[in-house]
Amino acid sequence: MQLTLWSLPSIAALLAVGLTFVRVRSLGAVPGARAFLGVIVCAGFWSAGQLIGTLSTELDVKRLAATIQYPGITLLPVAWLLFAVTLTRRRTVSPVTVAVFSLFPILTFVLALTNGLHGLIWSDLSLVEAPGGFVGFTLTYGPWFSAQLIYGYVLVVAGTAILVFELSASPLHRRTMHAVAAACGVVAACNLVYLSPINPWPWFDPTVLGIAIAGAVLNRGVLQVRYLETNPILRREVVEQLSDAVVIVGGDGAILDLNPAAASLLGIGLERALRTNLATCLATPLLPKLLDGVGGEVSVDDRFYDAKSTVLRSDGDRIVELAIVFRDVTDQLRMRERLERSKIELEQAANTDPLTQLSNRRYFRQRLEAEIGNVERHAVPLSVVLFDLDHFKRVNDSFGHDVGDRVLQVIGHIALEFKRGADVAARLGGEEFALLLPNTDLAGAVRVAQRLRQTVEEHVISDRNHNPIRVTVSIGVAAVNVERPNSDRTLTDADRALYRAKRAGRNCVCTTD
Ligand code: GH3
Ligand code: MG
Ligand code: MG
Repeated sequence: MQLTLWSLPSIAALLAVGLTFVRVRSLGAVPGARAFLGVIVCAGFWSAGQLIGTLSTELDVKRLAATIQYPGITLLPVAWLLFAVTLTRRRTVSPVTVAVFSLFPILTFVLALTNGLHGLIWSDLSLVEAPGGFVGFTLTYGPWFSAQLIYGYVLVVAGTAILVFELSASPLHRRTMHAVAAACGVVAACNLVYLSPINPWPWFDPTVLGIAIAGAVLNRGVLQVRYLETNPILRREVVEQLSDAVVIVGGDGAILDLNPAAASLLGIGLERALRTNLATCLATPLLPKLLDGVGGEVSVDDRFYDAKSTVLRSDGDRIVELAIVFRDVTDQLRMRERLERSKIELEQAANTDPLTQLSNRRYFRQRLEAEIGNVERHAVPLSVVLFDLDHFKRVNDSFGHDVGDRVLQVIGHIALEFKRGADVAARLGGEEFALLLPNTDLAGAVRVAQRLRQTVEEHVISDRNHNPIRVTVSIGVAAVNVERPNSDRTLTDADRALYRAKRAGRNCVCTTD
């Protein structure tokens, strides 16, 4: 038994292996985790064998230690390739495939166990005294060892190539890619130094030192950035292609991850975004709400986004991580606006007389019913003024239909001038018009009617040849019976009053009584 500095790399490797094992175990069933555990266990075997070898001074113990490393040394490349495949392809590998890949390593282990019989793995195992009194051993490798070495390196290179290829597809995983490449590189470099003739310490295998360093590198570059849990490939396939902008932020707004759509929405490069706070690239008063996990509508430049914020992780009341998804709703909003506008225009058209732009009979009736309701509730007065152009047929006959139309337009204009805020001026049809006067009693309505009659009488309209055209109107006025308000009754009264005005010689105002 000896305890020297030569044991330190193995102890460090075992520590790194143990820590990594615990961390990966705690991740549960994330893709690639099982194979990664396999890699760690293999590295553990390797390191444990090395430690036992460096602690002992006995040749037999050293030989045994060298032998028990073999499952680790030979199966580690298989586990690494499986890790690469299961992680990047997002599926498990069948036990048959695992068995096929493990066949060669298992055979190697059997040969290592039986090496005394054939010497295919190693020969000339002998003790040497290293500086500082350390008792080590040297050996000469047999032909099978070289075959196993090539097999192992092919698998390691293949696994690393798969990982690096997949990881390089997203700039966000560059750190992980570097970590994987560095971990692999350092283990391979240490291993190659050991196997090469330039190895300055033939009694010591520095691969364990590589394993200790690789453990630390993978811890930082893969586990700390939570690469395994974030489903990188799934993320690339779904999130990267998504037209919605997705940003993962910390509770303080620091951007942790984002997809290309989000980078273009925020106007920031993917990699720079990862060192930026959302507040610096998204100027919206909604930001505090978003960081509280509440969504809303955000406008950036001239576009509108429906922002949905989801808390991914929290620590008690404190939000640790959120996902904010921005969906561009500009086109929908614009379409909705257009539809609203068309609806209003259609409604207006349905209520308007096209010739005079006054309200039509339909709208007049509608408003009359509404105002009657008001009379019922509040017992306020309401009057209707009905007026009809006198001998309009003659205007048409003398000046033509076009001029008749223009006259109707002018009368419509005058009616509009008489309309106060809540009044309704309408063309009921032909040359018959009406005013609906809320809050106006019969006397008030008669006064309005008289002024209207006078205005029309005094108004001179000219035809194309500037010949003056004078028209007059006969007007019937009726007030709603406040005790028993009824729209039909009121219109009939106004109609009868108009008829009286016609009979009374036209160009006058009449009521029913
Ligand atoms: P009264 O004083 O008795 O009302 O006589 P009147 O000629 O005005 O009445 P009558 O009902 O006999 O004729 C109405 C005329 O109004 C007949 C029709 O050609 C004309 N008229 C109806 N609608 C329009 C229109 O949109 N444009 C034009 N130019 N004329 C119209
Ligand atoms: Mg008429
Ligand atoms: Mg008429």
